[in-house]
Amino acid sequence: MNETKYQRARAVLCRTVGQPVVVEEIDVELPRRGEVMIKMAACGVCHSDLSATNGTIPMPAPLVLGHEGSGVIVAVGEGVSEYAPGDHVLSSFVSMCGHCRYCQTGRPQLCDQAAKAAISLPDGSVRTRDLAGRPLNIFSGCGVMAEYATLHVDNVVKIGADVALDRACLIGCGVMTGVGAAMNTARVEPGSIAVVFGCGGVGLNAIQGCRIAGAAMIVAVDLSDAKLELARGFGATHVMNSATPDLVKALRKLTGGGADYAFECVGRGEIVAQAYGVLAKGGKAVVVGVAAPKDTTTVRTASLTFEEKTLTGSYFGSARPRQDFPRLLALYREKRLKLDELITRRYRIEEAPQAFADLAEGRNARGVIVFD
Ligand SMILES: [Zn+2]
Ligand SMILES: [Zn+2]
Repeated sequence: MNETKYQRARAVLCRTVGQPVVVEEIDVELPRRGEVMIKMAACGVCHSDLSATNGTIPMPAPLVLGHEGSGVIVAVGEGVSEYAPGDHVLSSFVSMCGHCRYCQTGRPQLCDQAAKAAISLPDGSVRTRDLAGRPLNIFSGCGVMAEYATLHVDNVVKIGADVALDRACLIGCGVMTGVGAAMNTARVEPGSIAVVFGCGGVGLNAIQGCRIAGAAMIVAVDLSDAKLELARGFGATHVMNSATPDLVKALRKLTGGGADYAFECVGRGEIVAQAYGVLAKGGKAVVVGVAAPKDTTTVRTASLTFEEKTLTGSYFGSARPRQDFPRLLALYREKRLKLDELITRRYRIEEAPQAFADLAEGRNARGVIVFD
């Protein structure tokens, strides 16, 4: 007799693509070999979760949402020696196998295993089922918008127990993506000039990443004046509404002939071209926003050569989660990284549909679901 044990939990699900999320009781299996069960404390509501519910990011329903979670380990599976019950952890939506060519060259954000853990654990199976016993997919190997979650250790990062978990969770996606784009991907230099397109959750973090790296001029660009005002609080020294006529020309003028760095935090080819367009010679444009699959962009080819410009992408802020998550939390302790100010509103799990509606309406820098 080998009866499998499950933990009952409430979870936020996409039941039908195109429909509002639902809060449902599910069963979460106790950890198998190489896995841990986490009692979730908090989970940020990220634009990618919303994109999974409306089909922009194709993920098959039924899907347990959430990939920006924090919590405390309550059980460890066989063979797990680096974690113990009571450990505070963050989820990592990139799986880190440790032995593919990308992990071995210090680029776990590109790990090959992530593709296998897109809607399941890395082995292709799930530990989540509904009360009728039907399996439930999980967002990016996580599915942490739930009271309990069982994850493979390759998707888990241990953190110190001194940072409040409802703030620490934000490191797991939005903060890492934005700050990492500035600090890891672009390697912004002190005294430099940066322009950031898009001031949502990721853009604000690109702005504070530039600030932490010591950029002297940081120009925030967005259509919403309210977001531009918020951007000032995160370190923008200048703001410009994207509706400004001849935007690229105006930005080049404001920056005294072009920026050293530009960050595209929207995910649209035309804005990528603008980001590239505002660069000074030798400048670097970093695409952080996730564009639709068929979206394209255009650059003047000769400018790559004659002006030595760089156009590159940044996935998850080129994160090395096991090194970078603790570093970002250290910056938070030193009051150099803002987390509290990112949280517009906290929600109870039963308010999840409202949290998604607020995100869709652009009302939040970040909404966070806090579990009991
Ligand atoms: Zn995210
Ligand atoms: Zn790997």
